Amino acid sequence: MSRNEKVAPFEINGVTVQPGTRVKVELPLAQLYTQTPLNVPIHVIHGRRPGPVLLVSAAIHGDELNGVEIIRRLLRHSSLKRLNGTLLAVPVVNVFGFIHKTRYLPDRRDLNRSFPGSETGSLGARMAWQFKTQVLDRATHAVDLHTGAIHRANLPQIRADLSNQDTAAMAAAFGVPVVINSVLGEGTLREVAEAQGIPVITYEAGEALRFDESCIRAGVKGVLNVIHHLGMTGPRKTRAPLEPHIARSSSWVRAERDGVFLPLVALGAWLRKGQLIGRISSPFGGEDVAIESPCAGILVGRNNLPLVNEGEALYHIARFEEVREVAQNLEVFTSDIERGPGLTGEPPIA
Ligand SMILES: [Zn+2]
Repeated sequence: MSRNEKVAPFEINGVTVQPGTRVKVELPLAQLYTQTPLNVPIHVIHGRRPGPVLLVSAAIHGDELNGVEIIRRLLRHSSLKRLNGTLLAVPVVNVFGFIHKTRYLPDRRDLNRSFPGSETGSLGARMAWQFKTQVLDRATHAVDLHTGAIHRANLPQIRADLSNQDTAAMAAAFGVPVVINSVLGEGTLREVAEAQGIPVITYEAGEALRFDESCIRAGVKGVLNVIHHLGMTGPRKTRAPLEPHIARSSSWVRAERDGVFLPLVALGAWLRKGQLIGRISSPFGGEDVAIESPCAGILVGRNNLPLVNEGEALYHIARFEEVREVAQNLEVFTSDIERGPGLTGEPPIA
């Protein structure tokens, strides 16, 4: 399609969005038992010129809030005024979980394990099916925004199936220093989308039920980088993003016994093999247990709840060929994010 070709209106859920306009479409996904309809608002920004259809979704796990704020800021950004293609931004996919401040649906199911879903299945299956057929199937590319689970924080990172070249290019374009090649979990939005040829990357940053300003800024910047990479905006003056590093592998450090966990390293720390990284003790007496890093790597995930049971995950460590470079990139990246005002005018991080 040539750049001069006339763009057709974008039809979604019976709503017609004209080229060069933005509309908020309410997708009725469920109803409360009080007969209150529960809609999922979808912001549709339909450009005047042809281009990809990018879906940016958040809170498919209802308590993962950084992405909700990333999308709020993204929608105010000036570069969306002249868009090639279409942006579908869904700040809250799991509206049930968002209302109840939980990851799950009312039947304890995980919406991000319910794809592709079905019209007649469980609540989760029906919601997944609606979202897939009405929204996901309309997209050519997608970015799904997540955080760590409750009490677990993630260093800003991209997870993606790097065997797909288009997906790998999006993962690199996002511009955070750490990329993890991850196998697609069954029933996830990502698995279903990739299976039908829609490249998807997952941005993981911060902790459930918390806002983290650095993670939010890195997320806004990353999504804008992807929009630019896909040719949806004109030339930009900003610096090219840092070359990301792909983790060779990653592993979890688990609690060897029940007790009170004292972490001794921060997210992003460069760990040496055998380094003391935490302690498990008990206020009721007994010996402390020292926790040593099982490998060299970068700390990409951390449990923030001091009360732990044996076997619980405490740390997530990613291994790299060039661990020193990753550590240096992270330093530059973090100071860039924290120094200036945010992309939509927030003051520097205090
Ligand atoms: Zn999640």
